[in-house]
Amino acid sequence: MDLLEYQGKQVLAAAGLPASTGTVARTVDEVVAAADAHGYPAVVKAQVRVGGRGKAGGVKVVADAAAAAAAGEAILGMDIKGHTVEVVLVEPACDIAAEYYASFTFDRSARLHLGLLSAQGGVDIEQVAWRDPSAVARVHVDPIDGLSDEAAADLVARAGLSGAAADGVAALLPTLFAAYVAADADLVEINPLVLTGGGEVVALDAKVTLDDNAAFRHPEWAEWRASEDLDPRERRARDKGLNYVGLDGTVGIIGNGAGLVMATLDVVSQAEGSAANFLDIGGGASAEVMAAALSVVASDDKVGAILVNIFGGITRGDEVANGILQALAVADIGPPIVVRLDGTNAEEGRAILAGHLSDSLRSEPTMSDAARTAVVLADRRVSP
Ligand code: GDP
Ligand code: MN
Repeated sequence: MDLLEYQGKQVLAAAGLPASTGTVARTVDEVVAAADAHGYPAVVKAQVRVGGRGKAGGVKVVADAAAAAAAGEAILGMDIKGHTVEVVLVEPACDIAAEYYASFTFDRSARLHLGLLSAQGGVDIEQVAWRDPSAVARVHVDPIDGLSDEAAADLVARAGLSGAAADGVAALLPTLFAAYVAADADLVEINPLVLTGGGEVVALDAKVTLDDNAAFRHPEWAEWRASEDLDPRERRARDKGLNYVGLDGTVGIIGNGAGLVMATLDVVSQAEGSAANFLDIGGGASAEVMAAALSVVASDDKVGAILVNIFGGITRGDEVANGILQALAVADIGPPIVVRLDGTNAEEGRAILAGHLSDSLRSEPTMSDAARTAVVLADRRVSP
């Protein structure tokens, strides 16, 4: 789950890090009231789950109530890279002397956490890293050991920070790493981490991604979850515990295993169709899971046909076939379904389906046959 800036800053502040939590506003009146309360200059910041808000005009420093109102008018309702701004964060403006970049994330290939620090913050860090890789200092952190004060000081020195900034950032990094671990975050990114005119180090922005696998031990995440601007199809899928990503096409896809589902999307493209979604039902394909998957996929108006692609390993073809039939008995699925079964007990599965095949339930021997059939059916259904 990606947090909005103000939510991310709450995570940092709760861990004792210097991050202003400000005030959230949803109307121009609320913006002005919040700015008045904080005093001027204040800053009004668009809250959307996408970077580059500053460049898009979504961050404005305001000197008085009239400017606060104007910033509220301009930013609320603004579209930033396809995200409509519904909420802004209002906080006292910061007197910025220098901007840095700091982050912690996983390095899966190294099986370690990775910390990044750069003296060139405030701007697009990917561009900095691309133009001048040496401008971004890195440190791998062992999850057992954590980030030591020595490793933090070394990172700061390698990033080229000096003076008050070096001391302040070195002191902050171990706490930031601990906060990233304690929050069960996949990513904590602070850009910019600033040195103020007064010599303090402050997190002026926060991008925090929480690891959904840890949600069970964080009841406090529920409030943030409710504020997520999920695609309604994705919300339905999540409520049913399905691994679903909505796409724009017309062929609904259900498969077992992320790799197979990705391959299915490719095969549908090769057949000159377009996938309506990604849905991995994982191992096992009980009737309940299959019914939930079929009904979520079919609830998308754009879906003209559903392709069920199962390669049995631990999952058995006969169970999948029975699951599909039971699902069809309990759920009213509109679009035709094309099934391709292979692997463990595929023959048995196809035999079970054989007696039930019709225009709305077809079985195909291979993945490409199934994709071609699904694309033809989807085109037929979608185009009048
Ligand atoms: P992003 O563009 O979406 O990453 O949004 P940021 O929160 O990083 O803000 C973008 C830029 O706005 C920062 O790099 C700062 O230069 C500027 N900015 C943000 N807050 C303040 C503030 O309180 N005072 C001043 N002077 N500038 C700010
Ligand atoms: Mn930023």
